[in-house]
Amino acid sequence: MFEDIPVDVSPMYEGERIRSANMFVELAGPKSIGAELVQVEDNVEDGKIIVKGPELADMKEGEIYPLGILIEIQGEKLERELEGVIERRTHELCNYIKGFMHLNQRDQIWCRVSKEAKEAGFNLEHLAKALSILFREEFPIIEAISIMILTDKAEVEVFLEKAKILYEERDARARELSDEDVDVFYGCVMCQSFAPTHVCVVSPDRTALCGAINWFDCRAAAKMDPEGPIFEVEKGKVLDELKGEYENVNLMVSDRSQGTFDRVYLHSVFEYPHTSCGCFEAVAFFVPELDGIGIVNRDFKGETPLGIPFSAMAGQCSGGKQVEGFTGLSLEYMRSPKFLQADGGYERVVWLPKEVKDALVNYIPADLIDKIPTEEDVNNIKEIRTFLEEKEHPILERLKVSTEEIETDENPIETSEFEEIEEMGEVETRETTTSPVAYAPEMTLPTSSGMKIILKNAKIYAEKVIIKRK
Ligand code: SF4
Repeated sequence: MFEDIPVDVSPMYEGERIRSANMFVELAGPKSIGAELVQVEDNVEDGKIIVKGPELADMKEGEIYPLGILIEIQGEKLERELEGVIERRTHELCNYIKGFMHLNQRDQIWCRVSKEAKEAGFNLEHLAKALSILFREEFPIIEAISIMILTDKAEVEVFLEKAKILYEERDARARELSDEDVDVFYGCVMCQSFAPTHVCVVSPDRTALCGAINWFDCRAAAKMDPEGPIFEVEKGKVLDELKGEYENVNLMVSDRSQGTFDRVYLHSVFEYPHTSCGCFEAVAFFVPELDGIGIVNRDFKGETPLGIPFSAMAGQCSGGKQVEGFTGLSLEYMRSPKFLQADGGYERVVWLPKEVKDALVNYIPADLIDKIPTEEDVNNIKEIRTFLEEKEHPILERLKVSTEEIETDENPIETSEFEEIEEMGEVETRETTTSPVAYAPEMTLPTSSGMKIILKNAKIYAEKVIIKRK
């Protein structure tokens, strides 16, 4: 079946990583542009393959090129609602090809071709041919398929704009529905091939964290293949509407995560946040110093206010983990009225990359838009705090309340003791909470021996918190 393709094609190559030392070329990704799109059409010429732009044979080793993948499909039982779900399989199926690596989805794709594949004679027409066969195998309802690969920059630019309009149309449809309007959510375990305990819960208000699959897409996929990786889950008893906790969703997550997790809150980063695979478009992270939440997206190149870039943060919470204070999410979820509603929604957001803020300008409450700083306004926690104070961000009320709570602790510090401490320039609380007082995805502890102790995903509990006056 794959005899014309000069490299092996098999699910066993899924998970193959192509490091830069072993890379012939990179396609799309953060230093270029790219997109993938599946469209249900009429009159699809089955088996047609086109490569527009330079083929691998014409490319220079070590360079980066744009990439567009357009897959047109036809079939009596195919509906447009299936486009998103079928498109999402492009990631998995591309990775069946030995020497070809595909990451992410939609206009976030990032691919590499290995030197070995190039030496074996692999070309982009072989990529299209392999995909053509694999999609027909995976989805018997596809009766005809044609694939176009674009590497010409101008062509990819036009394709990318078209793809973005179609992604937005798909997403906009899902915005008309909310969690209360339905009795059924959906689970997806497509990413368990690399994140074995990860289970996505897709509700009308929470588009999957990869950003590529919404509630309607899941409904169509589960109808087409009830035994497939996307399946129905009856919501069952609502355990906490604000946090988005449902009895049957918990049972499903426990079952599908092999008992690793048994609770999930759809709308909070605290206690039991949604697990994160590795495909998320953005990460929400707790900023303990400000009792606020920051968001960083995959495209953001700088450091977050926690002093680490997106990649390091993603490394801490991906792989199917449930890490309190962190959750992977899609940008579309940030358009939902339920966006982290249990944590305060946008009133709790204290930092966003400019690009994300601009994209969400119609969804961030108007009275908050100027109060949330970006990398253009601030560089560190101290500057964020000053910005928030200047703009009178509502988080200040939370911070004030926390301080008042500390000062009116039901076990108040004896006056004499307080005065004594105050003289030393300290205000002490007898904090007995079981909640962590700080989170850190990575923390380095110096030692006198010259070695470093690195704590990952540290949650810091304290019997006592001392707040020092400067
Ligand atoms: Fe499915 Fe979630 Fe992976 Fe998207 S991120 S493919 S919804 S498991």
